Amino acid sequence: MKITIVSPDLYTYGSMVIGGILRDAGFNVTLTKNTDVSADTDIILLSLYSTLHLLDSRIRNFAEQSSKPIYVGGPISAYPDIILGELDVDGVIVGEGEESTVELLSNGVSEDISGIAFRNDGEIVWTEPKPAKLERPMPLIPDDISDQSIRGANVYIETHRGCIGACGFCQVPKFFGRTIRSREIADIIAEIKEFKQRGVQRIAISGGTSSLYQYNQHEKSVNVSAFVELLQAIAEVMGGRNVSVPDIRVDYVDEEMLHAIHDFTMGWVYYGIESGSDKMLKEMRKGVDAENNVYAIELAQQCGVKVAGSFIVGYPGETAEDYQLTKDLIEDTFLDDIFISIAEPIPETHLADLVLKTDDSENPTFIAHTGEYKALKMTESEARCFDLALHAQMCKSMPNLLTDQLYQACLDDARQQGSDVRAVTRLLQKYRGKRLSPRYK
Ligand code: SF4
Repeated sequence: MKITIVSPDLYTYGSMVIGGILRDAGFNVTLTKNTDVSADTDIILLSLYSTLHLLDSRIRNFAEQSSKPIYVGGPISAYPDIILGELDVDGVIVGEGEESTVELLSNGVSEDISGIAFRNDGEIVWTEPKPAKLERPMPLIPDDISDQSIRGANVYIETHRGCIGACGFCQVPKFFGRTIRSREIADIIAEIKEFKQRGVQRIAISGGTSSLYQYNQHEKSVNVSAFVELLQAIAEVMGGRNVSVPDIRVDYVDEEMLHAIHDFTMGWVYYGIESGSDKMLKEMRKGVDAENNVYAIELAQQCGVKVAGSFIVGYPGETAEDYQLTKDLIEDTFLDDIFISIAEPIPETHLADLVLKTDDSENPTFIAHTGEYKALKMTESEARCFDLALHAQMCKSMPNLLTDQLYQACLDDARQQGSDVRAVTRLLQKYRGKRLSPRYK
């Protein structure tokens, strides 16, 4: 049977993993980034990672015009009822699809397969997903993988699944669970060698937060030596300057880990700092306060590690005072790079619930900004995103000269994010009170 996996615009790691599993299960698999799929295929698997994909006319048209059955997988599969309501597709592979995809393609849709959703006599059947085994064959690696750049890396590889955190805006704990399941180091290294042989020059580690690799669930402690061993082994294959460890929780990092990051990677950490306001950090369920954030930043700086921080603006309940605390934190900490997002309510997250309970008149995503940037006709979220981006340029360890071009780029980004988050919020509101739950067997 011929299967085409469509992973729009970029080859996601998950699409390569599923491709490898199907290849070894005897399917004839092709992986493509284009929605221009050859007619010579039996079934299409559509790998989607952003809620915005559901509103993308290119993807909607592709689904509508395809004469072949289409099944959707990827991170957005956590809300299959919305997918089936929005896209003209035949089913959804919900959650970790390693096992259910093979069953589905071999036997067709059935309530006996866990982790799928499909229409049956006008009703949606949605079966409960189960965690997959992490031992698997080599991914299906496309020939042009070395041309891909996701924040500088050709590919993000997985070392573990799950996160012990409970951040209200994040779907990782619900999607992968709050128990950490780690891959064997030998499997990870063998996979990295394969990627390298296929042309990959730079890799990043994904999987929730990197330092939770081999986390000891019983003792509730990080496994520092396993993390250090992992980085060292990866660096031996790729060369340390070609490895990045993007995501670390500020409360699960210590000096030894930071020294390993310094010695065996390109020397950066990426902290999800989100806000300078303890009230907002609590609202976001971050499990840390501003003091924890500042401590972790300074510890990394003392270890010679560069620090990038991400921030969220426009979270429901964020006041001007909360926002000012975020600006103050950025001013005080000399971060090396700064990323700013407008709070996006991903369905099935606590933030999505919060947004649905918040009237538009109180949601910064819709409130018209009446302050300093009034003439630019922005929402409050957009104005904060724009203002913080400008502020960040001046407060970074190496400040940027604010050129007209940079000013316009910050403005365009804030407007685009504002428009995207409004679209996602409207989509959520469309399904308010109509959401389904999985059927437990
Ligand atoms: S620590 Fe990171 S991965 Fe874990 S819940 Fe928070 S944002 Fe998500």
